[in-house]
Amino acid sequence: MNSYLTSISGYPRIGEKREWKRSIEKYWSGETKQTDFLQEMKELRLGYLRTQKEKGIDMIPVGDFSLYDHILDTAAMFGLVPERFEYDGGSVSLDLYFQMARGSKQAVAMEMTKWFNTNYHYIVPELNKCTPSLVHNRPLDLFLEAKNEAGITGKPVVISPFTFVKLGKGYMPEEFGSTVYALLPHYETVIRELSEAGADWIQIDDPSLQFTLTEEEKEIVTHVYEALSKAKGTSRLLIQTYFDSIDDYTFVTSLPVDGFGLDFVHDRGENASSIEENGFPEEKVLFAGVINGRNIWRADVREKWELLKSMTTYTSEDRLIIQPSCSLLHVPVTTESETKMPEFLKEGLAFANEKLDELQLLQSALREKELLDYVAPVIPGRDRVHVQKEVKQAELDAGDRSRPFAERQVLQREKFQLPLLPTTTIGSFPQTTEVRKKRQQWRKNELSATDYASFIEQETKKWIDIQEKLDLDVLVHGEFERTDMVEFFGEKLKGFYFTQFAWVQSYGSRCVKPPVIYGDVEFIHEMTVKETVYAQSLTSRPVKGMLTGPVTIFNWSFVREDVPKATVMNQIALALRKEVKALEKQGIYMIQVDEPAIREGLPLKKRNEQEYLNYAVKAFKLSVSTVEPDTQIHTHMCYSDFEKIIDSISAMGADVISIETSRSHGELISAFESYHYDKEIGLGVYDIHSPRVPMKEEIIQNIHRALRVLDPKQFWVNPDCGLKTRKEEETVAALQVMVEAAKEVREQIKVTV
Ligand code: GLN
Ligand code: ZN
Repeated sequence: MNSYLTSISGYPRIGEKREWKRSIEKYWSGETKQTDFLQEMKELRLGYLRTQKEKGIDMIPVGDFSLYDHILDTAAMFGLVPERFEYDGGSVSLDLYFQMARGSKQAVAMEMTKWFNTNYHYIVPELNKCTPSLVHNRPLDLFLEAKNEAGITGKPVVISPFTFVKLGKGYMPEEFGSTVYALLPHYETVIRELSEAGADWIQIDDPSLQFTLTEEEKEIVTHVYEALSKAKGTSRLLIQTYFDSIDDYTFVTSLPVDGFGLDFVHDRGENASSIEENGFPEEKVLFAGVINGRNIWRADVREKWELLKSMTTYTSEDRLIIQPSCSLLHVPVTTESETKMPEFLKEGLAFANEKLDELQLLQSALREKELLDYVAPVIPGRDRVHVQKEVKQAELDAGDRSRPFAERQVLQREKFQLPLLPTTTIGSFPQTTEVRKKRQQWRKNELSATDYASFIEQETKKWIDIQEKLDLDVLVHGEFERTDMVEFFGEKLKGFYFTQFAWVQSYGSRCVKPPVIYGDVEFIHEMTVKETVYAQSLTSRPVKGMLTGPVTIFNWSFVREDVPKATVMNQIALALRKEVKALEKQGIYMIQVDEPAIREGLPLKKRNEQEYLNYAVKAFKLSVSTVEPDTQIHTHMCYSDFEKIIDSISAMGADVISIETSRSHGELISAFESYHYDKEIGLGVYDIHSPRVPMKEEIIQNIHRALRVLDPKQFWVNPDCGLKTRKEEETVAALQVMVEAAKEVREQIKVTV
């Protein structure tokens, strides 16, 4: 039967137990020979295809698999290797490929950045002097491999030249078109060869088509698809979009291809409305992304069934394909690995493989309506957990501090008596292998809780002494008791579940395991008070309390879809507020609430940004608003691009904020030329991502650069981010230089002011 076929646009790479990661890292460390490594990768790849086949998926993607990142694969396939790697043509070797991603002794790695609004990161193509040639038809190889070795006629996946160049850098805006056109003939070859090899559908990922396009862009896109459709032979081309709705729906759906893939989950209903208003082009195939490819909850099959049925008004059953909203790269592999998970929760979850089951279920129920009666009418696990606790209006109203910042500042200055340009750090100090080892032992019950706690105290004491010797003005306890800034709090709050294997790829071989927020988030007991109070007892200088903020905890977790985002964030905020108050009660008068991930949650389209920022700012304010006016609230943010949301950052009302600057290349600093920021602020004065110890002159220069746009009375001196990943020696050396630099500038300012 040819109606309601199922399709997948991408499958997770990492394997059920992160076999992929382990294999890659072993190769990097020299433990595995190249041939063995490639064989291991091939087995994984074919295994993934077989799983999809067994689960009855009709259109299985090939070429979505990667040894690092699919954008890097595309650059390598066209020989787009930056000059510094001294590449001299031909197919890019495996080692060169990894060097591009990770750097080599001679050449720094290519830049990495966020993949749209996900937590996946891709390698940014460097397209200056772009002279591409097709050095390896990678999708073709993978197509043939699937066909010959697994008997699967796969659906090759390529990233469109338009999106590829959009995501790249190194060309002037006016060179955009010529850069796309330089690639085009090579894309034509890729498509032609795939067609000759017998590909039926070819998926061209073009997520950048969802934004409002300029006339010039439309012309380029039209030209691209005209050329590709000439090259396609008997194959059919699919333009695949994801993560949001298509703004220029009628333009995109008039392009000369055979099918369009639309996201019906993250589109705020806009894609369905566009179809209702404008219809769907006859003879074309609609790939309907109805299963959420970015979350882990089981789908409401009945609701999806209705949506798909409604689409048959606009397209016929044999031109309607059911698929997830995007590649399954963004979800873990299978709930089957979760042997410790309570049944009620497991029943409500669908990771990648369970989503394949859902597609099949939907297909059967669409073909035979009676089957729908056998589908559980509610979503079992989720429904059995009682959410949501009312967040009371009275609590929500208390979003503002009792006194305005100007008054708080006076009180706080009096209380803390800090010098001009106070020095501090972001929170964590190096986590040595010993710290990690002790934690492991404690978790395995090989070390008693008291012994572990006293080890943490020792470590804290050591670093309080170091900080005093360094003469830092505001100290931290060092975060030795934490592995991960979300996990630490999630494990202590109600409503969170930590899985065993629900990893997703973040970048390269690095994976993250976001917790699942399945129920009401509530404060149960104090989480940080003991360690912080202990650290404070060792010194007369202020020690900052250190919490992870509600927006970051939210953005780095899997969150339910049936509860409004703002509700979950506010629940987290109200739980954290109790911790903030507990710290204050115990004499901790500087409290830092970190929000490194605030920018990550920003929607893709400008028109939707404000709504998110409003509730993010609100949640942050809720968590800190009830402290006394002379208690100083700090916050910290990292990753670049803050200049765009600077007024929301200001609206959070933190008395002191520290922001990373080294990766924003001065853009952030220049934002303060036009934006008057009135609170206290520390723009990171050195980059902690490198082991290099900065020179005093560099730091002095960085401070002066900031002081051109900020008042010395509002400026703090601190590193860019936490120091957890650095070595002890380099950390001490760098901080020493930083403190000396701050002292020198204080002297200089005294003379000149
Ligand atoms: N306080 C945290 C630390 O220092 C902040 C980490 C972060 O910004 N991601 O590690
Ligand atoms: Zn940071």
